[in-house]
Amino acid sequence: MTWQATALTLFPDMFPGTLGHSLAGRALERGIWSVEARDMREYGLGRHRVVDDTPFGGGAGMVMRPDVVAAAIADIDLAGRPLVYPTPRGRRLMQADIRRYAAGPGVVVLCGRYEGVDERVLEASGAEQVSIGDYVLSGGEVAATVLLDACVRLLPGVMGSGESAVEESFSDGLLEYPLYTKPAQWDGRDVPEVLLSGHHAAIAKWRRAASETVTQARRPDLWAAYQVVTGQDISRTA
Ligand code: SAM
Repeated sequence: MTWQATALTLFPDMFPGTLGHSLAGRALERGIWSVEARDMREYGLGRHRVVDDTPFGGGAGMVMRPDVVAAAIADIDLAGRPLVYPTPRGRRLMQADIRRYAAGPGVVVLCGRYEGVDERVLEASGAEQVSIGDYVLSGGEVAATVLLDACVRLLPGVMGSGESAVEESFSDGLLEYPLYTKPAQWDGRDVPEVLLSGHHAAIAKWRRAASETVTQARRPDLWAAYQVVTGQDISRTA
């Protein structure tokens, strides 16, 4: 069954965009997933199809109107799919969310513009509010593209046997170990000896240690959670 993505957007031409290329693009051609971009302007008010208005309470910018956004949502058959609103005000989007979305029938992504969407329609629709990072984009389409790309690569049949989601970053709560390819010597730098040894157990041990080192150095938040899960004493290792 095709995994169905719908983007509610004021810029339907932005889809599939980069998702029409490479891995996701080939999967799109093969019908593993589909994407429909719904133009929210069609639900705008009056001759000018107005979709936004000034914020109550004053302040800069415009806010997307709840009646317009609600009409766009109501016109969609969610068919068991979660409605997701990417926003810097959301909780952080995690690989666990991506796995959950990928395991379902698809997602509907509400792409905000201007200062964002009226809070009432977010409450009423029960949209999941997720952030792709602590920075502010100009619109939700790029965030939607990030979310969809991460989902699509997990769909059955998308990644070839040469690619794997099993050992990559976040799969076991750690960042991935460093990667090396040919040549074994480059610019005066050698590939770690153990990777050339052919000893699978030694390589696995080295990779696990390297994953732990990089996670501890770069992501104290992940490292702390990993300590809890593995039952290690953080005070001895941190
Ligand atoms: N006024 C909002 C704030 O301060 O939180 C920022 C609005 S932003 C200019 C316009 C739209 O871009 C948002 O409604 C959201 O859909 C999207 N967006 C911006 N940054 C994002 C992020 N870090 N994660 C997810 N979506 C984001």
